[in-house]
Amino acid sequence: MDMASENALDKLRQGFEHFKKEVYQQQPDTFQQLSQGQSPKYMVFACSDSRVCPSNIMQLQPGEAFMVRNIANMVPPYDQTRYGGVGAALEYAILHLKVANIIVVGHSRCGGIKGLMSIKSDGSTSSDFIEEWVKICASAMENVKAHHANLSFAEQCTKCEVEAVNVSLNNLLSYPFVKQALANKSLTLYGGYYNFVDCSLDLWEANQK
Ligand SMILES: [Zn+2]
Repeated sequence: MDMASENALDKLRQGFEHFKKEVYQQQPDTFQQLSQGQSPKYMVFACSDSRVCPSNIMQLQPGEAFMVRNIANMVPPYDQTRYGGVGAALEYAILHLKVANIIVVGHSRCGGIKGLMSIKSDGSTSSDFIEEWVKICASAMENVKAHHANLSFAEQCTKCEVEAVNVSLNNLLSYPFVKQALANKSLTLYGGYYNFVDCSLDLWEANQK
């Protein structure tokens, strides 16, 4: 192995050793119990962005949250031919883990949302995957462009970061098992917005139409 990859792995090994000594071995009961199974109360959708890890910003501990991270923290609508990864995670979280809360957390200065807001008006794309993916929340982009034409592009992106969370929350309703859990009152949906410029977190309960 070359020097660079040795250094890259060293950081991970050291991080793991720290975790093992300072976290795992300090809570033997917790980790013994977790080794038998998980029963998280939360499912969290967050962006792949390296600055927004829910385990850091909301201090979610091992066993507490089932997570999906993807470009711009999007929940696609129910579709068995596309987006199977998200569908499988949702199905497992709802039907098997029976999570009580789903939270979709957007964030400031999201590159994925900027990409969405930058898609040409004829809808043509130049990336292999990114633009097709973020088009999941195209209605958020259209809404922001229609109602906030007076704002700067950066301000429009901020609006879209929040609006896209609401589109994702609405998309959750297209999954029959989500709808069923909501009808049973065993599940609540929340939106969130983490601003890492001023370090604030907004949380809101979704409108369940
Ligand atoms: Zn992002």
